Amino acid sequence: MKMLKPFLTLNICLAALLGDYIVFNSSYSKSQIFRAFTDSAVHATLGCLSSILFLSQELSFNNTTCLFNICFCTMLSSLIDIDHIFATRSIYWKDITNNRTRGILHCTTFLFTITSLLLIYSYIYKKINIYMLTWMIILAYTSHHVRDANRRGLWMYPYGHTPPLSKYVYIFLVASLPNIFSVINVYIKPELYKHTMINTNMIV
Ligand SMILES: [Zn+2]
Repeated sequence: MKMLKPFLTLNICLAALLGDYIVFNSSYSKSQIFRAFTDSAVHATLGCLSSILFLSQELSFNNTTCLFNICFCTMLSSLIDIDHIFATRSIYWKDITNNRTRGILHCTTFLFTITSLLLIYSYIYKKINIYMLTWMIILAYTSHHVRDANRRGLWMYPYGHTPPLSKYVYIFLVASLPNIFSVINVYIKPELYKHTMINTNMIV
């Protein structure tokens, strides 16, 4: 198990590199629908691997709870793109792909603020399930935003957008952030939660 985190980190890098190649450089990449589905699958894969890496050091949870959190992070990593529909105010494919505005779920400072408040609230009031779900949201939006930032930069409202991140910076961030978050979690998690088995049916 000692090599699990490096192994997952390597897999995150490979999933990002290989996934981007399939989405943007394969023989089917001209198809908007192919790109949308594969792009979504890459976001989901990165979210899934990030949450497994994060939870690999988490000893307080049983397998069912870990699986629930991993599924939540995986789906959310992909579903963030649903805000293209809200930003476009249309369910038609042509409108969505031609629209250049970004929805609120792509605003990094907005999600940073919301998740920081949730972490503080759940920490103070010892709401362990909200606390862990908040980490899943953080893992999902950071991996999604960093990957998108390779093409469009990060949306740091009210300061606008950063320049697009280079491929090296994007891969470095997408692989290192789950490791950094898992270390932060180990240090800030309340003592109360250590050595405690948490069930999904606990009241949040
Ligand atoms: Zn996106």
